[in-house]
Amino acid sequence: MRIIVVGGGITGVSAALGLQRAGVGVTLIDRARPGDPAQASFGNGGILARSAVAPNSMPGLWRRIPALLLSPEAPLFLRWRHLPRFLPWGLSFLRAGMTTARARRIAEALSALTSDSVADHRALAAGTAAERFIAEGDYVHIYRRPEDHAGAEVALKAALGFSATPLDEATLRARDPALGPDYRFGAAYAGHGWITDPGAYVAALFEAFRALGGTFLDASVARVEEGRVLLSDGRELAGDRIVVAAGAWSAGLVRALGHRVPLETERGYHVMLHGANHMPPGPYMVSDAQFVITPMAGGLRAAGIVEFGGLDAPPSKAPFALIRRRLKQVYPGLRWERATEWMGHRPSLPDSLPMVGPAPRAPGVVFAFGSQHLGLTIGPRLGRIVTDLVLGRKPNVALRPFAVDRFD
Ligand SMILES: Cc1cc2nc3c(=O)[nH]c(=O)nc-3n(C[C@H](O)[C@H](O)[C@H](O)COP(=O)(O)OP(=O)(O)OC[C@H]3O[C@@H](n4cnc5c(N)ncnc54)[C@H](O)[C@@H]3O)c2cc1C
Repeated sequence: MRIIVVGGGITGVSAALGLQRAGVGVTLIDRARPGDPAQASFGNGGILARSAVAPNSMPGLWRRIPALLLSPEAPLFLRWRHLPRFLPWGLSFLRAGMTTARARRIAEALSALTSDSVADHRALAAGTAAERFIAEGDYVHIYRRPEDHAGAEVALKAALGFSATPLDEATLRARDPALGPDYRFGAAYAGHGWITDPGAYVAALFEAFRALGGTFLDASVARVEEGRVLLSDGRELAGDRIVVAAGAWSAGLVRALGHRVPLETERGYHVMLHGANHMPPGPYMVSDAQFVITPMAGGLRAAGIVEFGGLDAPPSKAPFALIRRRLKQVYPGLRWERATEWMGHRPSLPDSLPMVGPAPRAPGVVFAFGSQHLGLTIGPRLGRIVTDLVLGRKPNVALRPFAVDRFD
């Protein structure tokens, strides 16, 4: 059986490695080397966010949108030129989270993918050089006031078994004395993990794939059809199973198959401080600013922000400036030797759920994309599902919520 995997981010590499381990030869195609900054998998916050199961669109969000878009301090940006293309997706996104019942169904489906994420990563990385990048600990959400740790999202997580231990101001400061005076309450979600260098992690998994005899083709894919992949240079490759794991670029590759794939990029940003004079004891979610701070091998990384602006526009300046301003509020005394900046593309469908499974109109093509803010967390799980599907085994997760034809 000839297997092709298109896209070598965390999703594609997890699938390719799983299949290669099962003894099936895989050709992995990517125009970038796995672990490259071109991938979302390189620059993310690194958090294995098993508790982050609330959909990105929650009931009542629509009421806050104008304020979020107009305030320069809010973590949401829209490049106005992108508005006409964004609008249908945006409306569909708001509709997806319109009722508490729908939000709950989405969260249940997501938690089936996230709940074992640390163990999933340990199993994927076992025996490879990637193992050393997995760290474990609490994921602490920090707030200005105890009463801010409330609301529908917190309740939804709790209903699914993700409850936090409250950290009062004294406990929070004893744990991390460098925290600024604005943040006075924490909520610690136990049993989480983080990846201390996401780019190097993907690269190490890729090396394990290569060591098992996997083939890598450095090429740009133009189109995927049943039974074949067409490359941008005119070449063509035949495959019995073709896995599309090209992240935010996937929709363009599968257009000819005829399914409706409303995939949008939620552009995200990071600022990485090398040689920082302080490192957090573990990862934080800065709840009012919607970015994470993660202690990484190469320094302190602050990552987050959502910008709707399409796949082609260059990074904007304002999100970097916002991250830097807010980081100063969290750590007023922070100093560093050198900072680097990065922007990447989260692949997001309006209902916050990935598309995973065979395409009904082209059953030899398996979709595996749309992991939104959770792609690092669930990459190994998606890889295992794809491996099962390609080998004809039944995955141990119900795939209906992730169906390829759900927007047709
Ligand atoms: C700022 C930010 C912070 C984040 N923080 C977290 C976090 O803390 N935890 C978490 O779980 N998730 C996080 N995410 C989300 C996560 O990074 C993504 O969901 C995940 O990396 C998506 O992985 P992927 O393999 O699907 O896509 P990618 O990593 O983007 O890989 C897609 C690959 O497809 C290739 N490709 C695309 N088109 C073609 C083509 N035509 N031909 C050949 N190759 C092609 C690309 O080159 C790329 O290598 C964050 C994202 C961002 C932007």
